[in-house]
Amino acid sequence: MIDLHLHFDGSLPVKSVWEQAKKQGITLAAASMDELREMMVCPVDCKSLNEYLEKFDIPLSVLQTREGIKESMEDLIAELISEGMIYAEIRFAPQLHLQKGLTQEDVVQAAIAGVETATLGQEMKVQLILCCMRGSDNVDANRETVLMTSKYLGKGVCACDLAGAEALFKTESFADLFAYAAELGVPYTIHAGEADGPKSIKDAISFGTKRLGHGVRAAEDASLVTELMENEITLECCPISNVQTKAVVSIEVHPIKEFLYRGLKVTVNTDNRTVSQTTIAKEIQFLRDNLGLTVEEERQLYLNAAESAFLTKKEREGLKNVITKII
Ligand SMILES: [Zn+2]
Repeated sequence: MIDLHLHFDGSLPVKSVWEQAKKQGITLAAASMDELREMMVCPVDCKSLNEYLEKFDIPLSVLQTREGIKESMEDLIAELISEGMIYAEIRFAPQLHLQKGLTQEDVVQAAIAGVETATLGQEMKVQLILCCMRGSDNVDANRETVLMTSKYLGKGVCACDLAGAEALFKTESFADLFAYAAELGVPYTIHAGEADGPKSIKDAISFGTKRLGHGVRAAEDASLVTELMENEITLECCPISNVQTKAVVSIEVHPIKEFLYRGLKVTVNTDNRTVSQTTIAKEIQFLRDNLGLTVEEERQLYLNAAESAFLTKKEREGLKNVITKII
């Protein structure tokens, strides 16, 4: 299976956080692993994307050292391998890992080292996406993230992204950042159409992105859906997270099947495995139970993911062949 939209910090196994905290001498406000799990998981009645984002503080606290980053990456990938994943793009924002003196480059190198160790001798391939963060006072940090993406492109890193509070910091403010990425020849995806509406998606497309993080709110604008189809823009939907962050009112009105019918390159992903207590298998089951997803539709979602991966054409064809054999 394939996951193109998976955040490192929001997907850290609870056990890894517990063990890393002990190892690094970090005091957690939890007395047991069960208590810790409760603190790291988004409640069912989560109010908004902003409340959802608050769940990242604990995992981030153990991801401030080279060892913490490398070992946690290994733990996460071991879980993905055990679930039969064949390809994943794991994303994180290097600028959120500098609290104990690391540079963005140290963070990227540690994450790459974790990927290399975890995938050694395995059939699964993992690449990293480096997230810039929405904000108003981090222009330099974001440019550095784009530069790091360029420096490590094809060496463990495959693209950059823009994450964070979409409704507070509008997509239109990041035109210069993505002009810089385009100038450096860096591929990118952009979180858009999650907490903000069609305008955010239109701005992201105007920056030349070929992929959108979520993009579910495109459903509010019929002409935009046509534009996404005609331009073969990939939508990285994450159904369970989309319900929790209120990107959709409920799963019953999630547009993923409508997008499939319209011929959009829509994919299914987890977003945050721990915060949303999910896996790719759970996402698919969630769609079967609530939207009657068929096996053919499931296969199409995976084929779309294979076609949209930040890989060479030959590698993408290889993934498609594997999927056709499995499903
Ligand atoms: Zn995301």
